[in-house]
Amino acid sequence: MLSVQIAEDLILNAIHPPQAADTVALTAALGRVLAQPVTSPGDLPPWDNSAMDGYAVQSACAVSSDVQSGPVTLQVVAEIAAGQVPRHRLQPGEAARIFTGAMVPPGADAIAIQEETQREGDRVTLLNPPPPQRFIRQQGSYCRQGDVILPAGTRIGPAEMAVLATVQALSLLVYPQPKVAIFSTGNELIPPDATLQPGQIIDSNQWALSAAVAQMGAIPIPLGIVPDQPDALREKMAAAIAQADLVLSTGGVSVGDYDYVEKLLEELGGDIQIRSVAIKPGKPLTVAAFPQCLYFGIPGNPVSALVTFWRFIAPALRKRAGLAAPWGPQWVEGRSPQTLTADGKRETYLWGQLHWPQGRPEFHPAPGGHNSGNLINLACTNSFAVLPVGVREIPAGEPVQIITL
Ligand code: AMP
Ligand code: MG
Repeated sequence: MLSVQIAEDLILNAIHPPQAADTVALTAALGRVLAQPVTSPGDLPPWDNSAMDGYAVQSACAVSSDVQSGPVTLQVVAEIAAGQVPRHRLQPGEAARIFTGAMVPPGADAIAIQEETQREGDRVTLLNPPPPQRFIRQQGSYCRQGDVILPAGTRIGPAEMAVLATVQALSLLVYPQPKVAIFSTGNELIPPDATLQPGQIIDSNQWALSAAVAQMGAIPIPLGIVPDQPDALREKMAAAIAQADLVLSTGGVSVGDYDYVEKLLEELGGDIQIRSVAIKPGKPLTVAAFPQCLYFGIPGNPVSALVTFWRFIAPALRKRAGLAAPWGPQWVEGRSPQTLTADGKRETYLWGQLHWPQGRPEFHPAPGGHNSGNLINLACTNSFAVLPVGVREIPAGEPVQIITL
């Protein structure tokens, strides 16, 4: 049985970043991952502009009036709104009315904010004359022409959209979204729209995993339910391997008489990387590498399936999507108002909710206990408390390592 850390390392070594790239329009770029760095075609801001409503002035005016910091009265000779190009070069003793975002006129080197001025007719008194560059957004102060402003491997979200629009990157090179084939194995499984007969259960894993894959910006390919029959299973596995970057099958990886997945992976030529992991829940995780695809044989219990996804498959998907490292989970140290317990034999994942009262991470285990078949209290999970091998108890109020989702 491999440790969680070794299993994670093996998985990340076995998954390869994308080699190809797609071209997409900016309008379709949300959630995609840049395959190429984006550089700025010019300085940003492209010209000095005012950060405030007020008056563009010469900072030297304060000195020329012989009163270094006292009030100064200037002649208002122009008005510059955002979008206008100033025509007049400011001379000593002059000010230009200016508004936020407007170009700073030549000759001016500071902005006196409106709140610190008194206006009378075409004269304005600066109550607190500004020092050089005060309230000027200087040309090139955000980035210079040619600077890399978004590196390859960046996922495009709202802020990146703003940057891309600003540099007029209307068409982009992005990595293809990973394709993830998903199916469920088990004689007892039926889809949610069938009538439940005694002994049967609804296949929930396919819904959980398809949602998890889609939420990460990858493309789920749901392939249905396969009974625990070697021929049917082999056919489904081969079809999945042939069409996806990752395959996720659930069930059939334990030690039961109907658990065929591992044997079939070998038969199909898979290079078995992992046969079981010292994790609870999720111990029977089986991973095999194929030339074009990484296969995850996931335990069937609904909680095991999602814990396995969040702990091992999400990092693999991040790497496969072309995202920049690190790919692993996000950890935070928190405390729980309840004592957390484990058997100490495997790295134990207790699901629950993380809250931040007064900014301090506080972990609340899911009510009703941690049973890997209980998909009901898995709902609304946003985190896991992780108890390392050898730890059987973390007393209430003591530090605990938490993975946030
Ligand atoms: P297995 O990993 O095949 O031994 O299954 C372990 C447990 O998970 C059994 O109780 C199965 O009935 C249940 N299970 C397996 N597959 C699914 C599924 N797709 N959806 C919900 N429960 C499942
Ligand atoms: Mg089964």
